[in-house]
Amino acid sequence: MTAILLDGKQTALAIRAEVAEQVEQFVAAGNRRPCLVAVLVGDDPASQVYVRNKNIACEKAGIEGRVHRLSADVSQAELMKLISELNADDAVHGILVQLPLPASMDERQVLDAVDAAKDVDAFNPCNVGLLMQGRPRFLPCTPAGIVQLLHRYDIPVAGKHVVVVGRSDIVGKPMAMLLAAKDSPCGPSAANATVTLAHSRTADLAAVVRSADVVIAAVGRPEMIRGEMLKPGAVVVDVGINRVGDRLVGDVAFDEAMEVASAVTPVPGGVGPLTIAMLLSNTLQAAREIESA
Ligand code: NDP
Repeated sequence: MTAILLDGKQTALAIRAEVAEQVEQFVAAGNRRPCLVAVLVGDDPASQVYVRNKNIACEKAGIEGRVHRLSADVSQAELMKLISELNADDAVHGILVQLPLPASMDERQVLDAVDAAKDVDAFNPCNVGLLMQGRPRFLPCTPAGIVQLLHRYDIPVAGKHVVVVGRSDIVGKPMAMLLAAKDSPCGPSAANATVTLAHSRTADLAAVVRSADVVIAAVGRPEMIRGEMLKPGAVVVDVGINRVGDRLVGDVAFDEAMEVASAVTPVPGGVGPLTIAMLLSNTLQAAREIESA
């Protein structure tokens, strides 16, 4: 079997074009232009690239992108003060604190300080709680992008067994919540899955993964999910981004998966571009709610 490629890049471009169109309609209706502010602390090269890419994506979607750059030795109190100023600024609709923060900072305390109405990354505990209760405000960007990708490739998950490998607060846990929910922005067929959330203490991970109709790998270990671990015909979504030498590889052994699965996301060009597209979508949603309040 040769799997089809789930092209996250093209899907993300389609979503971004939809957001851009909606932004123009929103502004034409007399609303303030949506504005996303990124806060970047320190000079981590990968973070600088992420923030630059997010800013470019904002501009292309007609969203105002601003960046606050703070030096690595800024105090947490100063960072919290900036966040509270951004919370109070009516012209700011979305706030994104680029992670990781310097080790000296309490990351959770900083993220908690972002106003839930501007928390376009959906990290604030209020937004996490709303998601848990099946009435989300913002959907976490990476899992929401995966829901969109599967839906746009006509891959329903309702009634399917989905195994999510990895239980982080950013990817694994919210992914499991979204797929097990009763409904989704793409309708009930993109939700209502039977979900297993696997992690480093899961016994016989290979057997668990082999029982899955859909595998979502969010582990951060290069090519850990091998072809022999997959059920023939499974759908495989690879969230992992791992640098091996000068190559980027996912958490799934791509060539092996292409032989066994029915559909596979590549790395790069799979889930990554969708994350930014959903960030733009969340920023527009935040602007809609703030401007109509
Ligand atoms: P974390 O490191 O926060 O979580 C990794 C998870 O994988 C943990 O739950 C851990 O289990 C589990 N794990 C580790 N080793 C094993 C193992 N041997 N068997 C089973 N489970 C294991 O990672 P993130 O969720 O933040 O990121 C995961 C990957 O996705 C990374 O490569 C990251 O770069 C990428 N990523 C990509 C994004 C995108 O836009 N494409 C966005 C965010 C992340 P335990 O909890 O037991 O320790």
